[in-house]
Amino acid sequence: MSETAAAISEREQFIATKGRRKNTLKCDADSIAGCVSQRACVYCGARVVLNPVTDAIHLVHGPVGCANYTWDIRGSLSSGSELYRNSFTTDLREQDIIFGGEKKLSRTIDELVAKYQAKLVFVYSTCIVGVIGDDLKAVCKAAAERHGIEVIPVESSGFIGNKSAGYRAACEALLQLIEPVDRREAAASKTINYLGDFNLAGEAWIIEDYLAQMGISINTVFTGDSTSGTIKAAAKASLNIVQCAGSMYYLAGKLQELYGIPYQQVSFLGLADTAQSLRNIADVLGGGELRAKAEVLIRRETDRVAPIIEQYREKLAGKKAAVYVGGGFKAISLIKQFRELGIEVVMIGTQTGRQEEYDTINELVNDGTVILDDANPAELERFMTGQGAHLLVGGVKERPLAYKLGLAFVDHNHNRKHPLSGFDGAVNFAQEVYSTVCSPVWQYTAQQGGG
Ligand code: SF4
Repeated sequence: MSETAAAISEREQFIATKGRRKNTLKCDADSIAGCVSQRACVYCGARVVLNPVTDAIHLVHGPVGCANYTWDIRGSLSSGSELYRNSFTTDLREQDIIFGGEKKLSRTIDELVAKYQAKLVFVYSTCIVGVIGDDLKAVCKAAAERHGIEVIPVESSGFIGNKSAGYRAACEALLQLIEPVDRREAAASKTINYLGDFNLAGEAWIIEDYLAQMGISINTVFTGDSTSGTIKAAAKASLNIVQCAGSMYYLAGKLQELYGIPYQQVSFLGLADTAQSLRNIADVLGGGELRAKAEVLIRRETDRVAPIIEQYREKLAGKKAAVYVGGGFKAISLIKQFRELGIEVVMIGTQTGRQEEYDTINELVNDGTVILDDANPAELERFMTGQGAHLLVGGVKERPLAYKLGLAFVDHNHNRKHPLSGFDGAVNFAQEVYSTVCSPVWQYTAQQGGG
């Protein structure tokens, strides 16, 4: 297998093999025309970020197909409103595309607001809306004035970039909601915003509990279990911690620029990263007693879960994993988490990783590991089988690919129903890896990687 075995030659610079090529990996660029990218579209990027806002109406302005696979498929949990679990669309048809969809959008907002009495509506733009040029801003502004609520346009039509542009569009929409506060009071508040956690299976609540044990309270989570009210109050925090940097890096930077709130990168995936993140938060907020409380928590939880993980490690040692996930932070944490399980990562890629994240990935993996950005199914198949992987970690689009190849699969995407964050999340991850890799079903398939 060639180390640059791309599907087409233009893809070669997006693929590297550790130890065999010196050039830096190309990333953060639009997908190559002609490749069926695994990457989601701009609208999807925006929807991923905003969907967990629980009391909002999420209205997709576009053909019904764009809203497909959005009805209650997320694992994000709510402590209050369930409105976000619905998916609404203007269902644009041929006539609307010829004559314009603004009137239909206006009528749809009126109908939804009358039916659900929501205080917040997000209106997502899609590819065709970008083509026909509906004035989303004007329609949303008029609807907001008519109903006395927030109606926020999300400028996520296709052709403006890739999934990362959708993340940015979502952050811009969130910024429109945040209200200025007296920052002198806020800076001393010792409360934090948690950016880039979507409360999948209650993950934000797990971290909230850890922080509460250290005497730290969360002000706003972006966007797991958030509401229009909690988002508006985001400027009251003294620190932002950022889990999913790919989606929230822009918002963190803007909150620093506009309100002077510093930010700190964290990861609560795996034992080592969870412990280090809790220590870092304690230190940034002043250390001392906070750090002492963090150490008590880390010791207690590590002592509790490490023996369980060791049992799985004994069964999994020597296996090989392939990873293809949305963002770089998750990929970096997974390399370390697999190491805790005695598993080597032999192929790793992301949809929207940044250059500095790929540099870190390159430092962490062993020589011979294939690293790739914005992959397509042909490349994933070639590298997973060529590298002898036993397991693929990915999302909904990668699952059938793994199963067709006779490989074990772990879902690390937004539709999962079990938490993978924190100490208990590390146990869940080990358990899931074990149950799929060591499943008896593989003896009945023609091929499983690694041999
Ligand atoms: S039509 Fe455009 S906005 Fe709609 S799902 Fe497809 S790529 Fe995304």
